Formats: sequence, structure tokens, C-alpha cells
Amino acid sequence: MSAGVRVRFAPSPTGHLHIGGARTALFNYLFARQNSGVFVLRLEDTDAERSTEESVQMILADLKWLGLDWDEGPEKGGAYGPYRQLERQEYYRLQLAQLIETGHAYPCFCSSETLEAKRQQALELGAPVKYDGTCRRLSLSEAHARIGAGEAHVIRLKIPMGGKTVIEDLIRGNVSFDNRELDDFVLVRSNGLPTYNFAAVVDDAAMRISHVIRGDDHLSNTPRQICLYQALSQPLPQFAHVPMILGPDRTRLSKRHGATSVGAYAEAGYLPEALINYLALLGWSFDDKTTIFSRQELIEKFSLRKVSKNPAVFDPAKLQWMNGVYIRNQGEAEYLERALPVLVQSGLLPSSASETERAWAGRVAMAVKEQVKLLSDLPAQVRFFFGDEVEMETQAQDHLDQAQFKPELFQTLHRQISVLESFTSPGLEALLRDLVAQAGVKFGDLVHPLRAALTGRKHSPQILLVMELLGRERVLKRLAAGLKSVGITV
Ligand code: GLU
Repeated sequence: MSAGVRVRFAPSPTGHLHIGGARTALFNYLFARQNSGVFVLRLEDTDAERSTEESVQMILADLKWLGLDWDEGPEKGGAYGPYRQLERQEYYRLQLAQLIETGHAYPCFCSSETLEAKRQQALELGAPVKYDGTCRRLSLSEAHARIGAGEAHVIRLKIPMGGKTVIEDLIRGNVSFDNRELDDFVLVRSNGLPTYNFAAVVDDAAMRISHVIRGDDHLSNTPRQICLYQALSQPLPQFAHVPMILGPDRTRLSKRHGATSVGAYAEAGYLPEALINYLALLGWSFDDKTTIFSRQELIEKFSLRKVSKNPAVFDPAKLQWMNGVYIRNQGEAEYLERALPVLVQSGLLPSSASETERAWAGRVAMAVKEQVKLLSDLPAQVRFFFGDEVEMETQAQDHLDQAQFKPELFQTLHRQISVLESFTSPGLEALLRDLVAQAGVKFGDLVHPLRAALTGRKHSPQILLVMELLGRERVLKRLAAGLKSVGITV
């Protein structure tokens, strides 16, 4: 099967790159890479009203961010370009001329009002809603005369009157359609622009696409497209329709379910590798257990045969969990390369920070690495390390307010820390242990209020590390502030 695999991702640039589109792009990419094939990117921009250049740029940027690099397409070129449909009109005109000449296509002059009235009538009668073939019966000379007189028209494909069209789908098996259910669909609109079904087929044939892998919302287009391949005497590609993606409430994934665009996940601090891993599991599985796959493993293990026919459910909580796994698995350098810019962007770390300050901020970011699920959470997790004041969570203040809190421990600690010779984890640990032993209290009796005073929080990284990173001056200030909050001055 690997000989000559050419697949394509063909987004319509009418908005963001969505989770569903990204998953389709990914499956195509994995299939191409696995088979040493070619991954083509084609922009289906013939819906002139809805397509925008802004959307083109967002889609390209998001694909690059995901690392779904295409071999042929915009910015890359290739032997079968151009890769934007608006630039391919000459091809469509030629193919259209051939279809008309061979009697496979015909002009239709029915106005949209007439078609709408017939549609309503069919609905009322409970009859199938499809084009009734009025203009299919016109003679060629009449059609020419009306075109010559400047009458507005579309071009339709003649669908065979009887028989069946069968899709041999790599995921869904054989799916059969009665040709009577398919109507003579429009190939070219009255404004001269090709429809999706026409342009996609002409391009898939011209670009020698071997496998069409796309969402199963296109399944009903496929029999129409097959009729068009046949009319054009072009070989059929193999089809694989991937299942749709539902939200947690099992309705089609949409904005109601929160962020659905790739860009929004990038902004929210997700790692592209984590999103790729998660998207791969939307409809595909290797076995029931394994969830973490590197890109290379996905390329090796992905199989269209193991893509389910059933819809996949998008679970934001699982994606967030997975992102945490990827952050934890990152090496220090790789993690800091992403974490430090997040701190700069949040305003916590000045962009003009010195090397020493950056190194310190790096240690701070490392201190919470195990807890970070999203890079965008990082500033909130480390805010207490920066500045003089701590924002006290109520639950943390409780540790200072409760009866068993012994302010004298803080007072002694304050005194001892101000004269401590080596302000490092080992020195601080010895100091805390001695203090606890002498006072005859449990370690926690000191550490809980201490953590509260130093971080303003109930949970934090290891307390000795926190102290070391805060530095002597700030630890002393915060101890004093903690005491002040219970009415004691040092
Ligand atoms: N432009 C179509 C879409 O975005 C592409 C469908 C296809 O892959 O054929 O849905």
C-alpha cells in the first residue's frame, strides 16, 4: 500500500483551525509519514464570501505550531500546484468544458425562487427534496441560445438515473447509495465559482491523491464525488471517513463546549506534543491501555484499520491531564525554554532581567514543574515568590489563627534566621529540626504556619526550597508579617 501514497488536508479558510480539522490533518500526516508518502495542504477558498486571508494565516500558523508540516502546498509549492483553489480556476474551466462536451454536465437556468418553491412543495408532500431535472431535458441548442442571451445559470452534473454508488471505505466498509437519492448537484455556481464537490474532485484527481481521509460529515458528498470521478474518467482514490467528535454531553463538539480552536489551546498554555497525542486518540486507539505516544510512535503505530466508526468524545479534563504528563516529562532546558517567556509575559519577570535573575526564575519555575498542568497556570503558581507582599488564602491564614499556633516559634525562628551563617537548604533544615525538637512539637506544627506565612498558601513546593529561593530578607519580612497578622511585632 505504501507505493505512491499521497494524501491531503483541505481546509476551507473560513475561521480558526478547529480540533476536528486538526485531527483530520493529523491522521493524514501520520498516514503519509508512515508510508513515506506525501502530505499535501490545499486551501479550499472558493467560498469567496466566507474565506479570509486572516483565516489562511491562522490555519498555517496552527498547523506549524502542531508540527504538521506539509510537503506540498502554500509556502512550499510542489509539482501539482497552485494549492489555493481560487488560483486553479483555469483547471476547473477545462474540466467543465470536458464534462459538457461529453454530455455529463448541463447548464441549469432554474432561478433560486423556483427551486425554493419546488423544495417547499416537496417538503409538504413528503417527497424527496432533490432537483427535479427540468433543465436536464433541455436541448443543447436551446441551452446555448439562453446562455447566448445572457441568462443566469449554474452547471449541474448528470447523475446516472438508476443503479447504485458504493463507497468502499477503509474505516466504514462498503456504504451503498441509491443513485435515485442523489440529485444533479451544482458544479459551478452562477457567479462562475466552482462548488466544493466539483473543485475537490478535480483537485484530488489532478494532485494524484491516493487516499481521501476526512471527517464523516462528508460521507454524503462522497457518492456524488464518485459519480464525478466516473464522469471525468478518473481513477477513484481510496476513501476513509473518520468519525466525528462530540462534546462531553455527546452532542457535536462546538463552542458551547468551550475552546474548540487549536489557537485557543496554544494560548491557554498547552504543549503541541500533548495536543497531538490527545488528538490522535480521538477515534484511533492502539490498545485499550496505552495513552502516551510520542510523535514517532504515532507514526509507527497509527492504522486506519483501528480507527473507530463511532464518534469520539472530546474530554478537556483528559487533555489537561495529558498536558501535565508532557510537562513533567520535559527536560529542564526544554521546560524552561517555554516557562520563562510565560513568566516574562505575565509581568512577573522583567524582560530586562539579568542572567542571575533569570537563573533564579528558572529555579522557581522548576520548583513547581511537577504541579503545572498548563503553562498558563505557571504565573499563579509562582506569584508568591515575587514581590514583597504575600496574598494570603483564607485557608492559609487559618494555620496562623488557630489556637495551637505558637508565635514564639516564629519569634525564635526569626532571630535564628537573621544570624544563620549558611542560608541554604541543609542549614535551614538543621535549624528547623532543632527548633522543633527543643519546643517538643511536631514538624508539621511549625511547617504548616510557616508555609502559610511564606507563601500565603496551604500547598507549596518543599518548604526548605521555598525558603532558599525566597532568600533571607524576604523570609524574615514574611515571618514578621505573619506575626503581625496575629497581633505580634518582632
Ligand atoms: N474544504 C472541506 C472542509 O473543510 C474539505 C473536505 C474534504 O476533505 O474533502 O470540510
